[in-house]
Amino acid sequence: MHKKWIRRRLPVLIFTFFIVVYVDFQLRTSSLPKFSVVNHPSPGADHRTFQRTASSAKDAQSPSDNSSSSGGNRQVVGGHAGHAGHAATETTTRVTQPQLKQEDIFIAVKTTGKFHRTRLALLLETWISRTKAHTFIFTDTEDEDFSSDGYNMVVTDCQSDHSQQALSCKMSAEYDGFMASDKRWFCHVDDDNYVNPEALLSLLSAFPQDGDIYVGKPSLDKPITAHELLEGNKTREVRFWFATGGAGFCLSRRLAEKMVPWASGPQFEKTSATIRLPDDCTVGFIVEKRLGISMVHCPLFHSHLENLLLVSQRSIHHQVTLSYGMFENKMNSIEVKGSFSKEDDPSRFKTVHCILYPFTSWCP
Ligand code: UDP
Ligand code: MN
Repeated sequence: MHKKWIRRRLPVLIFTFFIVVYVDFQLRTSSLPKFSVVNHPSPGADHRTFQRTASSAKDAQSPSDNSSSSGGNRQVVGGHAGHAGHAATETTTRVTQPQLKQEDIFIAVKTTGKFHRTRLALLLETWISRTKAHTFIFTDTEDEDFSSDGYNMVVTDCQSDHSQQALSCKMSAEYDGFMASDKRWFCHVDDDNYVNPEALLSLLSAFPQDGDIYVGKPSLDKPITAHELLEGNKTREVRFWFATGGAGFCLSRRLAEKMVPWASGPQFEKTSATIRLPDDCTVGFIVEKRLGISMVHCPLFHSHLENLLLVSQRSIHHQVTLSYGMFENKMNSIEVKGSFSKEDDPSRFKTVHCILYPFTSWCP
């Protein structure tokens, strides 16, 4: 009787055993969130999405990442990198480097004497008050008031105008300043940018810390075309993506080190002259065309070349940079309701700062 029961139940028991083993195996292998680069073939442009999947963390920096820069290839990092970032960082940094800290980020602000009282003062009052120790202000005019307040003011020998040469001179100084520091990331912003330090840290933490990363947002919807000057007055057409300087962008140290032959000391201005384009284009040219590394496109950076009304108030905590400026005689700024009127706070930076840091002494 007992034997008969066992004979009847045995196949069921064996089947159940295999199901349990299979489910256990699946759970074990899918418990660690990791990065991978997913290619989405589309006509004309090969988009790369940077996202979390269950495949190897190493994939995010696979050699194929660095091989393609035909101008059409690009990497895109999602709008909610902040959330995905932390989990992924844990996985990546556990094996390689210690967790990224605010002080590891070298923030370079480009400004000029005539904007010290107008634009720069607003930044010092708002976001730079939170990042003072690792923010470096590159200008062309000495300012006793700011340096005596302990801000890192770097007075360059660059001209103070808006020319391609003057702006490349300052970018070159920013790059050299970073290279001489012990920081792990270089980020550039203009003096009409608001930087959200927590969102910036989340974004950068989401990348492999020993990777070749160039992240920012293009102002154009396609790669720029340049005419590279060759020997004998010949030119060559080149196409590449670049992150617009007015929205800010970042470079990982490993990538910045690879840029040395074209970006260090007098080389940056020389490279800029070779393509006859401004400083931010020059960075894109060096990364994509000289090194063959694709830029990572990120929607969390913002310049006043885009319609800032499209940035929603509830997304403020996730945005990495903001901006403001005049467009067709009207102020282009983000729409946020809060502590200050548009008359008292036309850039909306004070209002944003009070949303992010409500306990700031001057916030109502
Ligand atoms: N800038 C400068 N010298 C000038 C004008 C501007 O160094 O004569 C800097 C300015 O401080 C800012 C950047 O260049 O960081 C971009 O300037 P702006 O926002 O006025 O112009 P945009 O290029 O955004 O139209
Ligand atoms: Mn600007």
